Amino acid sequence: ASEGRRPLVAGNWKMNGLRSSIATVEAIRDGLSPQLLADIDVLICPPATLVSACVEAVKGSPIAIGGQNLHARPNGAFTGSISAEMFADLGASYVIVGHSERRAYHYETDDGVHAKALGARRAGLRGIICVGETMEERQQGRALDIVRAQLAIGIPKGATAEDTVIAYEPVWAIGSGRTPTPKEIAEVHASLREMLDKMAGTEGAKIRILYGGSVKPGNARELMAVENVDGALVGGASLVAEDFLGICRAY
Ligand code: PGA
Repeated sequence: ASEGRRPLVAGNWKMNGLRSSIATVEAIRDGLSPQLLADIDVLICPPATLVSACVEAVKGSPIAIGGQNLHARPNGAFTGSISAEMFADLGASYVIVGHSERRAYHYETDDGVHAKALGARRAGLRGIICVGETMEERQQGRALDIVRAQLAIGIPKGATAEDTVIAYEPVWAIGSGRTPTPKEIAEVHASLREMLDKMAGTEGAKIRILYGGSVKPGNARELMAVENVDGALVGGASLVAEDFLGICRAY
């Protein structure tokens, strides 16, 4: 489903996982064959408390570890916050930016997402910028307008595939067991693709666009086959090693 773009399967554990969950990372590590890892990138984004232990668990394997959110500034008086530099210092290489749960429960704006994406780039992390419409917005026929505006404001100028990944996650598909049709996904991805191609020229053409929202082993093959879908951002199914491996193996 991608032309020259290496697929990325990313797991977002959200606020799940204790130290005992390192066993899940080990099972994922041991379940991925070198042949598969030669063809796709695999990323796990555990809660910040587990980043260090996860980096340790995947040492020597190409599996990447990332954060789920960051503060835009490198340091300072921001109690409870974690900077991109801190994630990079632990060995993380990606960070999710602007997930719809951050937008909904933590009032993140597109401008805030932009600042965080810049913070990720500053520290050498790849930012996974999330965009997606609500069901109400889709029913009003505004899905494309919404995601295009989120992308236009969120993405830093001069973004490249080295520092940026986009994830299209319809809010109504997250954790619901519902997904858009392949045709609906193709429409959004084509639209975002066109924007990236225009925005960043030849570099933009290399930026990956993931699909996220109720990706499971049973639907991964169909979803990943959609044109311009360059991988998956997986929530619930990334918490169970066999499910996450099943999605990786859809390639
Ligand atoms: P889900 O979550 O796979 O549980 O729907 C996806 C996400 O929020 O990234």
